[in-house]
Amino acid sequence: MPPKKTTAPPGDTVTRFAPSPTGRLHLGHAYSAWFAWAQAAADGGRFLVRIEDIDQGRCRPEFEDGIIEDLAWLGLTWETPVRRQSDHLADYAKALDGLKDQGLIYPCFCTRKDIAAEIAAAGNAPHGPDGPLYPGTCRTLDPGLAADRMAAGEAFALRLKTDAAMVRTVPLAWIDLDQGSQTARPELFGDVVLARKDTPTSYHLSVTLDDHLQGVTCVTRGQDLFDATHVHRLLQALLGLDTPVYRHHDLLTGPDGKRLAKRDKAQTIENLRADGRSPAKVWEMAGVTAEAMP
Ligand code: GLU
Repeated sequence: MPPKKTTAPPGDTVTRFAPSPTGRLHLGHAYSAWFAWAQAAADGGRFLVRIEDIDQGRCRPEFEDGIIEDLAWLGLTWETPVRRQSDHLADYAKALDGLKDQGLIYPCFCTRKDIAAEIAAAGNAPHGPDGPLYPGTCRTLDPGLAADRMAAGEAFALRLKTDAAMVRTVPLAWIDLDQGSQTARPELFGDVVLARKDTPTSYHLSVTLDDHLQGVTCVTRGQDLFDATHVHRLLQALLGLDTPVYRHHDLLTGPDGKRLAKRDKAQTIENLRADGRSPAKVWEMAGVTAEAMP
């Protein structure tokens, strides 16, 4: 897909590539990085790289270094400094406090097993883009009891009271430059987690806040994250954040027709490079035409 003009005046477009350092980049990531870079380049705008490393159990500094090395080898240039999410936990905590003050979040002590059991018992549980919706077990916990469990050191996540949050906002919409105006449907995801048990934020919260704090005007990412935008639009309204425009690109697939994943080692930029491929060859393999390469 070629870059589209965003609604921002030329030169004001800000895009970003936001990889998680849980492995090395593969061709699909290279395409995604190019897509964001090309969108900014088409408008004479700015391209940022952001390291999404809130999952401290899976992220590794050596993968972060490798990602930066691969992007530079591919000939991409971006603005520095690179924002690393784990350096900004205080920003996410402040946003959570704001939502807490609005009475829109609650602690959830459920384990995966508890949730699975509850869903099985319910029979026909509603499903969303990420699977069955949280059945709301902890939503009605007595606040005093919940406070006691937290004080006793029991692990808890923080969830959004999505339907209460939607009542507080007017009907929301967002623009996908390829697919047109979308009505936000955050209810598809139910009460999403905004802070995980193992880390004091979540993908949805940190990505939405960072895009605002970094002044991103056009969010580009894979089609697999299209539905997540419904949640992000609601968070923007609740937290008073700017709403960028969006583009969701198709995902690259391997010879088996399945989308590329970090386990497909043969397709990593590191291995293609070690096999003697040039940056131009790697771009070609990622489906980027010669005239569109960086
Ligand atoms: N960090 C996410 C990933 O690696 C991308 C987040 C986004 O672009 O919104 O899949």
